[in-house]
Amino acid sequence: MSSAIIIRNGTIIDPSLGLNGRYDLRISGGIVEGLYRPGEGQTADGAPAARELDAAGCIVTPGWIDLHAHVYPQRAVLGIEADRVGVEQGVTTVADAGSAGSAYYREFADEVAAASRTEVLAWLNIAEQGLCEDRGELADLSRLSVERTVELALAEPGIIGIKARMSGSVIRHNGLRPLEIAKEASRAAGVPVMVHIGNAPPRLGDVLDLLEAGDVVTHAFHGKAGGMFDDGGRLISEGVAALARGVRFDLGHGSASFSFRTMKAALAEGLGGYTISTDIYRQNYADGPVYSLAVTMSKLLALGVPLDSVVGAVTSLPASVLGRAGRLGTLRTGTIGDVTIVRLADKPVSFIDAEGERMSGESILEPVWTVKGGEVYPCL
Ligand SMILES: [Zn+2]
Repeated sequence: MSSAIIIRNGTIIDPSLGLNGRYDLRISGGIVEGLYRPGEGQTADGAPAARELDAAGCIVTPGWIDLHAHVYPQRAVLGIEADRVGVEQGVTTVADAGSAGSAYYREFADEVAAASRTEVLAWLNIAEQGLCEDRGELADLSRLSVERTVELALAEPGIIGIKARMSGSVIRHNGLRPLEIAKEASRAAGVPVMVHIGNAPPRLGDVLDLLEAGDVVTHAFHGKAGGMFDDGGRLISEGVAALARGVRFDLGHGSASFSFRTMKAALAEGLGGYTISTDIYRQNYADGPVYSLAVTMSKLLALGVPLDSVVGAVTSLPASVLGRAGRLGTLRTGTIGDVTIVRLADKPVSFIDAEGERMSGESILEPVWTVKGGEVYPCL
């Protein structure tokens, strides 16, 4: 019997290919074999597929990518198991955002990345202890080593960038120095920085001025004072300049870092090109306000963002942040066969942001199956 998986009767949405329509999709050996007109997705040799999925009433998209999650529960106590927020929720790739620094990365690679069905990548924390010891990891500059960070980032393909949490409680009296050190490592290793923003110090404009094309600002739409938008709802000038340089904005919901009010200001300014990520960990998965990437995406739908754009913000756009555009986050023939099959359920929903503000919506994305590495996972 063929090892093919045929997904029939679904509506394919793939912004990387400009597709929104009815096709059958065939995956074989974990690779996309092709898209076919409904009913024509046979296996190449005419043999029956190993598995057929009836996606009637569902949307079929490239596998979702979550650029900001915390999936190292063995060491970083707030973490959650990668597969629980990965293949069990429609997410085929998660990037752990700085749980591990150079002191713990190899253990993380063995115990998490190699042991998960979900593809697990990592933003390596510029502090060697990452989030494994306490929450003030950038307070002691002696624990930030450019040399060790660069050596590891060059040796390990699972490291896709460097993480620095630039908010007052993390940096203490160190000002911009931790980010300058992270940028030095990022340039030497040829990978981007993901910078977490929050409460000052440092001043956000000063953080943005240090970032270059390809770097990522996560928590871009938080609701704290001194954020990306001024009191009149306009993007601050350093933000305008950063976007023009090719700096990327990422949502990074988290327990305290996503505000409907701020996102409305961003949308009113016509902001696009941002990625949608969760900053998910044990508590905000179980008790909210995050719950999942699907719920976070549904909040953007409730704010009026079109479905195709929401899908792009978890597929083609994060793939380009990872330097893997055209290879990941796409259903192009011959690429990795990561697929998310999801139902857009029409029902009244009450969403909540990280500020405790509520907003009603009329639909919610409910993942049904994840296809990853030639296997089919039911979503919970
Ligand atoms: Zn985080």
